[in-house]
Amino acid sequence: MKRVRKPRKKSNFVPNIDVDAWLDENPQAMISCPNQPGQLKLTREACAKRYMTANEPRWSNIGAEPFHIFVFKMNLVACRKCQTGAELASEIKVKAA
Ligand code: SF4
Repeated sequence: MKRVRKPRKKSNFVPNIDVDAWLDENPQAMISCPNQPGQLKLTREACAKRYMTANEPRWSNIGAEPFHIFVFKMNLVACRKCQTGAELASEIKVKAA
């Protein structure tokens, strides 16, 4: 039986944004995380949400299984006692994920 070649789907829309220009116009929108590797830039809301999630009571109940949840937990270790995250969380009222 001969294989039929399926035509490719049209590519999804990819916005054409000049990131540097946008950051110049919105200097307060993003912060640089002092604790995550690679000079992570994230929104103030995302930082506050990470802090809130890292300080949820259920956080301490997460064990080594399931592994992907454990990896997520380890990713938030730096956020647990972060002063920047605490300030942003009290400033921006967000709920934990
Ligand atoms: S809470 Fe602290 S460690 Fe976590 S993303 Fe925000 S600044 Fe970085």
